[in-house]
Amino acid sequence: MNPAPQSGAAPALRPDDHPATTAYIGLGANLGDAAAALGAAARAIHALPGTRVLRASSLYRSAPVDATGPDYHNAVVAVRTALAPQALLSALQAIEAAAGRERPYRNAPRTLDLDILFFGEQAIDTATLTVPHPRLRERAFVLLPLAEIAPRQVHPDWLAAVQDQRIEKLATVWCEGL
Ligand code: AMP
Repeated sequence: MNPAPQSGAAPALRPDDHPATTAYIGLGANLGDAAAALGAAARAIHALPGTRVLRASSLYRSAPVDATGPDYHNAVVAVRTALAPQALLSALQAIEAAAGRERPYRNAPRTLDLDILFFGEQAIDTATLTVPHPRLRERAFVLLPLAEIAPRQVHPDWLAAVQDQRIEKLATVWCEGL
């Protein structure tokens, strides 16, 4: 049992006092120094209110899917967050914007793309947010890094279905400083 706060003293606010959820975020970039952009994004996520990066996958390089331009760099992070799903999405979009993300046309090359893959066990379907992410099962660049840090989230059949997609795991250290 927690000790009662002393009279006049504000009760200590500990992370455990907040309802928190484990979420998985996919990171991708295929313009500029993509590895540096993903590292900066992971640190920005780690600095969000009530949010901590728990685990980070290796860095991967993958061929663009339904898109043109250079190869992508991809990774997935697991976070523990007290943010609500929509607040997390807004925060991720602010990080994308700060990285110079523009949306000239659908699937255009991008300096940074952040997707919420899972948010706890929640199923969300609003105008701005669909979780689990609707295309995660089709994409090796999501499934391989996700399987590395959360194997129970990835069915082996899903991995088998994307095995023709070109992707390689890189040895690059990409998110030091977390
Ligand atoms: P994109 O251009 O691929 O970054 O798509 C961004 C759009 O997808 C935004 O308008 C979001 O509102 C929407 N969206 C829907 N579900 C998600 C999700 N799970 N994660 C990130 N963006 C999402």
